[in-house]
Amino acid sequence: MFGPSELMHRCLRGRGRGGVARSLVIFASWLSLTLCVSAFVLWIRSYFHQDDLMQVFWLEQRGEERTYYVSSWFGEFSVATHFVKVPPADWRRFVESAGTSPGLYNFGQPINADERREIPMSLAQRFGFPYRFGVSRRVAAALGGVGRVEIQRAWAPLWLFTLMFAILPSSRLIGRLRLKRRSRHGLCPTCGYDLRGSPNACPECGIKRDTSQTAVKKPGQSRRTWRSRS
Ligand SMILES: [Zn+2]
Repeated sequence: MFGPSELMHRCLRGRGRGGVARSLVIFASWLSLTLCVSAFVLWIRSYFHQDDLMQVFWLEQRGEERTYYVSSWFGEFSVATHFVKVPPADWRRFVESAGTSPGLYNFGQPINADERREIPMSLAQRFGFPYRFGVSRRVAAALGGVGRVEIQRAWAPLWLFTLMFAILPSSRLIGRLRLKRRSRHGLCPTCGYDLRGSPNACPECGIKRDTSQTAVKKPGQSRRTWRSRS
């Protein structure tokens, strides 16, 4: 058995800088795929459940309540801060009227049918189209008329995250499929030119076959057996 650092060392040994870069791209595209699927699931879920991950801090000495949260709701993902400034004399009254306590909350509140009907949205808006994203900052009276609350909120549609995280894995998949199709048909992996008549180099783009490395494939070596002329 060996630890994580030894494992990493074994993975990187025998690979050049290109091998390490390739490993990073593979890792990034799997991570991106995971995030893509998660964003998609959250997008669909957000029409049925509201999820908030929030942390409330009560700083009594400074007369402040600070809340940080991320939420998903009706196709939107948002990050927000909620700062309440309370005069020291009113702190006790504020705490009593707040109805919350400091800590971490993770809600999965169901959005009921009535609530859904009440939201004045077109069908397109209900599914996050046309998208809505931006940043808002407002100041209002805090709970129980005590203190002032400053709210900052940034939001973006969840489908946008789904799409964004799909770019890397799908482009890699398309690249792999194209390479596979070209090698099966005896075409140049770079430009797709028919190479059946010219086995050593591509007359179209100049890429040449690295014959010294095609016979014996060393472990960890790139799957590509083609090298550009440069
Ligand atoms: Zn070519």
